[in-house]
Amino acid sequence: MHSRDKFYIGGHWVAPSGKEAIEVHNAGSGEVMGKVPAGDEKDAEAAVTAARAALEGWSHTPVEKRAEWLEKISAGLKARAGELAKLIAQEVGMPIKLAGRIQAGLPIANFANYARLLKEFKFEERVGNSLVVREPVGVVAAITPWNYPLHQIALKVAPALAAGCTVVLKPSEVAPFNAFVLAEVIEAAGLPKGVFNLVTGFGPAVGEALVRHPGVDMISFTGSTRAGKRISEVAAQGVKRVALELGGKSPSVILDDADLAAAVKGTVNGCYLNSGQTCTALTRMLVPASKYEEAAKIAVEVANGFTLGDPLSETTRLGPLSSAAQRERVRNYIQKGVQEGAQLLAGGAEQPEGVAGGYFVKPTVFGKVKPGSTIEQEEIFGPVLSIIAYTDEEEAIRIANDTPYGLAGAVWGKDEAHAQKVARRIRAGQVDVNGGAFNMNAPFGGFKQSGHGREAGSYGLEEFLEYKSLQLKQ
Ligand code: NAD
Repeated sequence: MHSRDKFYIGGHWVAPSGKEAIEVHNAGSGEVMGKVPAGDEKDAEAAVTAARAALEGWSHTPVEKRAEWLEKISAGLKARAGELAKLIAQEVGMPIKLAGRIQAGLPIANFANYARLLKEFKFEERVGNSLVVREPVGVVAAITPWNYPLHQIALKVAPALAAGCTVVLKPSEVAPFNAFVLAEVIEAAGLPKGVFNLVTGFGPAVGEALVRHPGVDMISFTGSTRAGKRISEVAAQGVKRVALELGGKSPSVILDDADLAAAVKGTVNGCYLNSGQTCTALTRMLVPASKYEEAAKIAVEVANGFTLGDPLSETTRLGPLSSAAQRERVRNYIQKGVQEGAQLLAGGAEQPEGVAGGYFVKPTVFGKVKPGSTIEQEEIFGPVLSIIAYTDEEEAIRIANDTPYGLAGAVWGKDEAHAQKVARRIRAGQVDVNGGAFNMNAPFGGFKQSGHGREAGSYGLEEFLEYKSLQLKQ
């Protein structure tokens, strides 16, 4: 059992104010893998008070010193990388090999990266008679989801600490154990008390208490658009800074001159990563009508190669979803797709064979999906690909942009310059051209209802800074 019964507040492991606990389920088996405390308003109060008290000291700590601590945290996580990969594979359902590379690997890399960026970052510049200085925004409440749990945490905690902010972290109640490992690593690194604090619990209870608290200056949130809207409303009462990384329904536009096999394969892989529980998942594949049959055939072949299995097995390509609720949600969407007349080419809503216990959904492909239909518009967050045929490029771009979201996308075409032109017309925060690789220093975030603000690299650091102009005599 991985159960935890204390919060990390003000440099100590303290008992929660109430007795309620939340069960956390193993995605691969459905069994309870442990419990965490369900925090409340009093716990939020204690954590914010500790973060507030630590702010003055931490914000004036020299950047070299802050960088050293970030390096220590990275090293501490690295020493526990195997344990973290296994833990997150069970919490989320991502196959272990990938979980090692992504779920444990990225946080380790990001803490180290912010140590490096901090040493290069220009905290002040002269503009005419002004000295413009960058100061930390203050106490940050970081509220995070379950799909890439420690990565989402690292993208907030590392730059916030780098900027000189103090933090209260409220991780997802679905995958919270990895956050406790981070708290232990931070404790072992010897960060000053109260600089980093951890509370767990349900969003509307402890999460909202943090958002509402007058001692919190900024909320950095990653999660659903629904919760993001609520957080914005509550935060507006205190005119707080809010950064939102929300959902997506990302298009993959395959142009007429693209290498069809590579483009379809890249799209299906991008759709099914982490069982489709990826905010940037390429869930809508747009293909020229003349290439539709061939593209659909390749997509089905690639989808059928995604062997379902235990996330802890080295041969598994597609793990389960993270929770029973998520599995139900995805199955309902598959049924809705059939009802709305899309062609089910692979997978389906039934329980897959050969796997039991965990929250498995078959790798699913829908063909002839109508623009504007439910499965084409709404974020499903499961292994479900929609193929949409288009007649000309203008139509492809229009369909690509015609959802409330704008997080990510992809464009495939032999003529690279032309593909880039199309990529520029897609209203999204990041667009991969011909399978261009993920870049941890490039800004990450969304247009439209995918949120506002940018994470990662120096752009992520800037999120946690205020400008101040000192008007000088000369
Ligand atoms: P969620 O919105 O249900 O929960 C996210 C976090 O917010 C959790 O910690 C939850 O407890 C908390 N929360 C919920 N309601 C709250 C409230 N009223 N006040 C304060 N906190 C509250 O999302 P989820 O189901 O954990 O994650 C899946 C969603 O996250 C998907 O929509 C996905 O697209 C999105 N996501 C976005 C990104 C991105 O960077 N854009 C990355 C990962 C996931």
